[in-house]
Amino acid sequence: MIDPIIIGVIALDDVETPFGKRDGVLGGSCTYAGMAASFFANPGVVSVVGKDFPSEHLDLIKSKNVDIEGVETFGKTFRWAGSYEYDMNEAKTKKTEVNNLLQFDPKISETYKQAKYVFLANTDPAIQLKVLDQINPKAIVLMDTMNYWISDHKEKLLEVIKRVHILLLNDAEARQLFDTPNLIKAGRLALELGPAYVIIKKGEHGALMFSSDGHFSAPSYPLENLIDPTGAGDSFAGGLVGYLAAQDKFDDVTMRKAIIYGSTIASFCAEGFSVEKLKSVTRDQVEERYQVFQKIREF
Ligand code: AMP
Repeated sequence: MIDPIIIGVIALDDVETPFGKRDGVLGGSCTYAGMAASFFANPGVVSVVGKDFPSEHLDLIKSKNVDIEGVETFGKTFRWAGSYEYDMNEAKTKKTEVNNLLQFDPKISETYKQAKYVFLANTDPAIQLKVLDQINPKAIVLMDTMNYWISDHKEKLLEVIKRVHILLLNDAEARQLFDTPNLIKAGRLALELGPAYVIIKKGEHGALMFSSDGHFSAPSYPLENLIDPTGAGDSFAGGLVGYLAAQDKFDDVTMRKAIIYGSTIASFCAEGFSVEKLKSVTRDQVEERYQVFQKIREF
């Protein structure tokens, strides 16, 4: 059975970090989240690529046990260019070419409608709303977004947030969306909109989870070999939703474990450009790093 399903972007990225530069490499929220979820479950992705998209990228995604039945092909691929300085917590966007995303009208197949877990990854909130209208009404839904959509599509974005169970944001996005410097306040305001859980990612400083039961603070992995953080957020979310789907549980304890698995996979993602590192990581390596997280937390 295909579960979770992930709706988002498959992209070609130009990325520059203090450790190098790559042009036209495989990226996009669906790519990272799909590959991350596949460590635990059988994810399927709903997205669009252009006629210019190299077929070997789709072959790679497929070879990682990600179902690509939901990927359409037309027009020109979404392209993003960004760079990071020594503080790699936030990318500076140099270019966003939305291209075929503008015409993308997602259709969720009967097989995908069976999925009990759905990740609305970073994409146009109008697309996220169209997906919400088609999926299994009992599905547990996570969503992510970014500054690009908060700035110009806030109304639609708030409509999506009101309909999901788990909201993921990074710290800068949470401050921007709720117009406050205080993350605790942003977490509370986000919960008031409806999600049962709100997760605020703080890059190399871990993540905070808010719910009506209180809050959980997750550490980050002490990574010395940070090369390119692009996709770390999507890998975090993909790992999280993949773990939830595999356990088929949505409670506080499972959420905490899912956050640590998500953080584990995000840490591998940041050790290489694009999916260079992620594609070669094994399930055993994930488990080993998960144990390190447990040690960091003990006192
Ligand atoms: P992150 O996990 O937040 O680092 O996401 C990185 C990915 O987001 C890159 O591979 C980009 O292709 C993709 N991206 C950049 N801008 C947007 C956007 N406005 N909407 C959707 N995806 C985007």
